[in-house]
Amino acid sequence: MTFHAPIEIDAQSLRSEIIRHLNYSLGKDETHASLHDWRMSLSLALRDLVVAPWFASTRKVYEARAKRVYYLSMEFLIGRLVEDIAINLRVEDVAREAMASLGQDYAAVVADEPDAALGNGGLGRLAACFLDSLSTLQIPAYGYGIRYEHGLFEQHFEDGRQIETAEGWLTQRHAWEFERPEVAYEIGFGGYVSESGGKAAWHPGETVIASAYDTPIIGWKGRWANTLRLWAAKPTRLFDLESFNRGDYMAASAPETLARTISRVLYPDDTTDTGKELRLKQEYFFTAASIQDLLRRFLSEGNALAELPQHVAIQLNDTHPAIAGPELVRLLADVHGLPMAEAIATARGCLAYTNHTLLPEALERWPEALFAQILPRHHRIIELIEDAHLAATGGPVRIIEDGSVKMGELAFVMAHRVNGVSALHTGLVKQTVFRDLHQAYPERIVNQTNGITPRRWLYSCNRPLSGLIDRSIGTEWPDDLEQLGRLSPLADDGAFREAFRAAKQANKERLAAWLKARDGITLDTAAMFDIQIKRIHEYKRQLMNLLETVALWNAIRDNPNGDWTPRIKIFAGKAAPGYFVAKEIIHLINDVARTINADPAARGLLQIVYPANYNVSMAEYLVPAADLSEQISTAGKEASGTGNMKFALNGALTIGTLDGANVEIRERVGAENFYLFGLTAEEVTARRAEPDFARHAIEASPTLRRVLEQIAGGAFSPDEPRRYAGLVHRLHDHDYFLVSCDFDSYYETQRRIDADYRDTGDWTRRAILNTSNAGWFSSDRTIAGYAEDIWNVGRAPRR
Ligand SMILES: *Cc1c(COP(=O)(O)O)cnc(C)c1O
Repeated sequence: MTFHAPIEIDAQSLRSEIIRHLNYSLGKDETHASLHDWRMSLSLALRDLVVAPWFASTRKVYEARAKRVYYLSMEFLIGRLVEDIAINLRVEDVAREAMASLGQDYAAVVADEPDAALGNGGLGRLAACFLDSLSTLQIPAYGYGIRYEHGLFEQHFEDGRQIETAEGWLTQRHAWEFERPEVAYEIGFGGYVSESGGKAAWHPGETVIASAYDTPIIGWKGRWANTLRLWAAKPTRLFDLESFNRGDYMAASAPETLARTISRVLYPDDTTDTGKELRLKQEYFFTAASIQDLLRRFLSEGNALAELPQHVAIQLNDTHPAIAGPELVRLLADVHGLPMAEAIATARGCLAYTNHTLLPEALERWPEALFAQILPRHHRIIELIEDAHLAATGGPVRIIEDGSVKMGELAFVMAHRVNGVSALHTGLVKQTVFRDLHQAYPERIVNQTNGITPRRWLYSCNRPLSGLIDRSIGTEWPDDLEQLGRLSPLADDGAFREAFRAAKQANKERLAAWLKARDGITLDTAAMFDIQIKRIHEYKRQLMNLLETVALWNAIRDNPNGDWTPRIKIFAGKAAPGYFVAKEIIHLINDVARTINADPAARGLLQIVYPANYNVSMAEYLVPAADLSEQISTAGKEASGTGNMKFALNGALTIGTLDGANVEIRERVGAENFYLFGLTAEEVTARRAEPDFARHAIEASPTLRRVLEQIAGGAFSPDEPRRYAGLVHRLHDHDYFLVSCDFDSYYETQRRIDADYRDTGDWTRRAILNTSNAGWFSSDRTIAGYAEDIWNVGRAPRR
């Protein structure tokens, strides 16, 4: 396939386009334009530039009758887009100049954009990185998801407690999308199934309309654009005029209210499945719309249904869209008349499933009665899929068991490939959750280690470093990230080291200035920035980091004249609103921060910072400023992690366990440039089986014991001394994530880091080796792997 020519526009022309949009799209004149108006006008002018490559890409796919990839994901954690698009189009300097000529500050305009936060964390961010890489690799693809009216909640702290408020990114117009009212599908729920002459038909009891909104996703250098198609729910019947005429205004708008509920909010929990009817409806809603849409496109090209797998690859990002299997079978068999066995085989040829977790509470299951009530025909089709699977394998794994429909098993059985997201995780998938299915289908499970897009997570978020890289090895690295390997010899070059250190320092100062303006916090940028940012979860062990912080504070107070290495501990992250323990940990972090930050003995040596409302934009400030990256999950629990990759790429050293992609990061950056501690996944399992393992660990560690006594005794909650008694108590008897067992190893490793950090030259050398060896973690490499091993689609050669 050929490329679209680079976009050429000068500042004068872009300026005219911005003014044209200000006048004619927004109806404003220059003297009355607000920052929001300027941002909208710039965004619309940039969007215009994306349209030509977008049309050209679509045309080429139709002409070549190329296979398309459909990436189905309940979440896309996109963040801001202005900068991303300007960078990919290579028009950023032009945009900056045009805005300046209009008396506007480009950086302020960029920062005015609300984050598109249609995801909880890593899973949704992965989907967003994949969109960027799919377009960069020029793979014909659609992202399919839900256009939530409210993205992930906003987090506030009140007296140290997390408070959630609704997020409202769509209260402003979303500049990047095109509404497609003509692309609409009717989605059914409930009702009954009729059978006659061996043919089944579903008669849904209620229906809503899935209505499409398209956002073009432009790849690096503007050569290719794919589409992110998000579905909004609308009522089949707009308005109940009869009720209105009776004067019953609430009842009149009831159809609309009910329908819109389906795409109203993102479920704010990144692990546990709440088993809620609305959640199941959301899953079916966007999956069914996507499957109908791709089937319509396929049939419009005049293809025969048997050829579907040669033209269509459907990737299921976790089990949330696992209903795609039965839905595709239903359309092929009930609507298009394929025999059931052939329908199942054809659907399987298209489908692949990515597993993201081994946590048992996160594996989706639906009560069979609820499932059968909402999706009666799918329930029956799953029974038929199960029969075929049992006949082929002889058991023992069932899809419907003990009154539950198990979505992991369904996704597995209906996929021709199942992948884990890091080498360690894939191995554990084979040994644990899908052990029996792996034996029945030994070729099915493959690994694709996660990645991150280097355009956002290095080029754009870390200008000081990306500028230095450009000057050192040229400008070809952003879509060929392993070129960073050429920086390795420079790790021993004094001048390069100094420049690398200066870039890190500039990022720390940028973060400090931002936090000062946002929260009024002052950071000492000479201190080590030690950062743990991610969802708050027991398995991620923010608590262990906090206990170590208290232990360090104790050590400083015991020896105030010691030669301490100044540190700033930065935490950020949200807890699911219903996750009591995670919220308790947030409260404790804030209580400890208040106490330690007020202690004169800690001044200049130890500070704790917890900025509220972690999101993609905050990560873009924090990641480049980190000296130390905290990746300390209980081994065997973090499937991959992608935060770990962002930090290594931006020249932080990691303190981490042998978990998820940490294993591969350590292999690539070198064991001597990675601070490993803690039990391995195997040791974790063995230790957990020992009686009273936590009590023994606590007894053996005077450092930990002292910290726990302080917390339990109210040292950080004098207004309510027993506030954390339960938390400390649970650590003795129910320390499922082995905080107590790994504590000493973690504490000692941190003290080694204190000492090593003082050798600035050598620390910088090792930071450089992290950046130079992290190129493999580009999501371009991940997507090339999916294309080759799972989708069987071509990609453009790099140039
Ligand atoms: C990268 C990212 C994550 C994932 O972080 P992990 O450390 O891998 O859990 C979550 N949220 C945001 C906003 C991110 O950018």
